Amino acid sequence: MRRPLVLFDLDNTLVDRRGTLDGWAAEFVSRHGLGDEARTYVLGMVSERTYPSTFDTIRTRFRLTAPTEELWRLYCADIAAMVSCPREVLDGLDELRAASWRVGVATNGAADIQWAKLRATGIANHMDGAFVSEEADARKPDVRHFALAAERCGVALEDGGWMVGDNPVNDVGGGHTAGLRTIWVDNGRPWDSRVPAPDHTVADVIDAIDRLLHIEADHVSTAS
Ligand SMILES: [Mg+2]
Repeated sequence: MRRPLVLFDLDNTLVDRRGTLDGWAAEFVSRHGLGDEARTYVLGMVSERTYPSTFDTIRTRFRLTAPTEELWRLYCADIAAMVSCPREVLDGLDELRAASWRVGVATNGAADIQWAKLRATGIANHMDGAFVSEEADARKPDVRHFALAAERCGVALEDGGWMVGDNPVNDVGGGHTAGLRTIWVDNGRPWDSRVPAPDHTVADVIDAIDRLLHIEADHVSTAS
């Protein structure tokens, strides 16, 4: 039986990274006896991507005594404890798999924090595979990233599929170049990018899953 592939971005697609970081930054500054200005700074430092080196900078700036590795380890543990994936999203992933889809996660970032999130949210138990850019130094929008994510799901990128994500360049542009059809999770933003427009635009990942379920149902009924 044909099993079509769908890859999901993780941050701000399957999980609310922004909201999680707000909570974490508040907790971090209170733990270190820092103020509101520090909270804004720290949040700015971690907002795009966070690596151990991020904590080198934070540590120096606020003269923290804890070593960088400890700050990084605590960050991973804190985020894993605070991040969540809504039940209906996990159910949606199950529904896709029950409807014959191969479900994967394709995410940029450090392997330890991204895998900690995949496990803590339960997503790891509701997918066929995941690839984190740091594992092979292959970041979205590079085609190689999508090829490795597909491989983790046991399929070849050349067979096509879908990419769902919130980032116009990395997810939609990258997905398109990789030969995938794309769904953009707009998170309330207008499309404003020079990369080719997505095949579908949705408000959230639940909506994306609904579209995919209908697409496959249409495909099956057309094929039969
Ligand atoms: Mg994202």
